Amino acid sequence: MSFPALRPAVRALQPELVTWRRHIHKYPELGFQEKQTAAYISQRLKSWGIPHQTGIAHTGIVATIEGEQPGPVLALRADMDALPIHEANEVEYRSAIPNVMHACGHDGHTAIAMGTAKLLQQHRQHLKGTVKVIFQPAEEGPGGAKPMLEAGVLKNPDVEAILGLHLWNNRPLGTIGVKSGPSMAFADRFQIQVIGRGGHAALPQQTVDAIVVGSHIVNALQTIVSRSVDPLQPAVVTVGRFRAGDTFNVIAPRAEIWGTVRSFQPEVRDLISKRMEEIVAGICQAYGATYEFRFERGYPAVQNDPAMAALVEQSAREVFGSEARIIPEMTMGGEDVSFFLNEVPGCYFFLGSANPERGLNYPHHHPRFDFDEAALGIGVELFLRCIENYTGQALS
Ligand SMILES: [Zn+2]
Ligand SMILES: [Zn+2]
Repeated sequence: MSFPALRPAVRALQPELVTWRRHIHKYPELGFQEKQTAAYISQRLKSWGIPHQTGIAHTGIVATIEGEQPGPVLALRADMDALPIHEANEVEYRSAIPNVMHACGHDGHTAIAMGTAKLLQQHRQHLKGTVKVIFQPAEEGPGGAKPMLEAGVLKNPDVEAILGLHLWNNRPLGTIGVKSGPSMAFADRFQIQVIGRGGHAALPQQTVDAIVVGSHIVNALQTIVSRSVDPLQPAVVTVGRFRAGDTFNVIAPRAEIWGTVRSFQPEVRDLISKRMEEIVAGICQAYGATYEFRFERGYPAVQNDPAMAALVEQSAREVFGSEARIIPEMTMGGEDVSFFLNEVPGCYFFLGSANPERGLNYPHHHPRFDFDEAALGIGVELFLRCIENYTGQALS
C-alpha cells in the first residue's frame, strides 16, 4: 500500500479510534436498538464539548461543530447498526452479544465519525463554517436515513453538501472507490405467491401443480435481464427463496417465490417490475393458476454529485500522493445514504479495508468479517481533507 500522509493529530488519534471501534464491535446492536452505542457516542461528544441532539429517529444523533469563522454547512454521515449474525472470529473484541455482529463495518464508520468530530472541535478556530456529524440507525433495515431526514437533520442550519464512506473489504487497504453519478443500486424486493390446486401425486390431472408453475416462473424471470433490459444497463433479478410442497406424494397447492431486484436507472427499475408481473400473470394463466405479486421499492440508488465526487477524488490524491489507487467503484449493493444524497449534493465513497495477509478479507455480512483498522485513521484524514478542500481553509 502506498503510504498515506496522515497529519500528526490523526496519527495520535489512531489508538483511540481502535478503542472506540472495538468497544462498539463488542457490544453490537440491531437497527433502531442502538441505545448503548448512542450513549457511548453521546458521552464522548459531551466530554469534548460538542453540542449534539440524541434520540432522533429513536437512536440517531446529530453533533454540530461550529467553526469560529463563517462558512458553509457540511454534513458527514455514519451508520451505527449491526446485523443478526453470530460472530465466528476469535478476537478479544469479539461480539459479546449472541447472534448480533458488526459484520459490515458500521462500528468503524462510527469510530471514524467520532474521531473526525473530535478533531474538528479541537480545531474550531481554523474551521470555516459548520460541520454536522450524523450518526444514523438501522441502515441494514428498515432504514434510519429517511426518518432522520424527516426529523429535519439537514435543516437549521441548512446543510449544503454531505459526505459519507463505507469501509470496503472488496478492495485492499489503500484503495479508494469514488465515482460520479450512480454508484450503488436501487434495492427492491418482491414476493410472488403461486396459487394452484393440490392433490394426489399420482393424479396430476386433477391438480394445478404450483411447483411446476413456480419453476417456469423462476426460469422465465431470468429472461428479464438477458432479453428485456438494455445490455448497457446493469440489473439483477435474484430469486432468494422458493418454498413449496411438504412431502413426496402430494402435489403442492402453493409456491412462494421471494427475491430482490437491483438496478441503477428508474426506467430500468420500472421496466423490471412491469415485466415481472407480466411473466407471472402469463405463466399462471397458461397453467390455470392464480397469483399474488408484491414489488416493494426499497432504498433509492446512490447518486453522487460530480463536483463532490471530484472533491473526494482530489482529497484522496493529496492523502495518498502519486501512488494513489483510486477506482470508479460501482456495486449492486444498496445504501439508504441515498435519501440524504437525493436532498443535497454529496458523495458516498468506499475505503478499501481488506488485508489478505492478515486474513482480514472476508466479505461484508460474513460471520468472520473483520477489517484492517489502519483504515480508521485514513477515513478521518480523508474526511478532514475533504472539509478543508470544500471550505478552502486548512484546519491547522
Ligand atoms: Zn451491510
Ligand atoms: Zn454497510
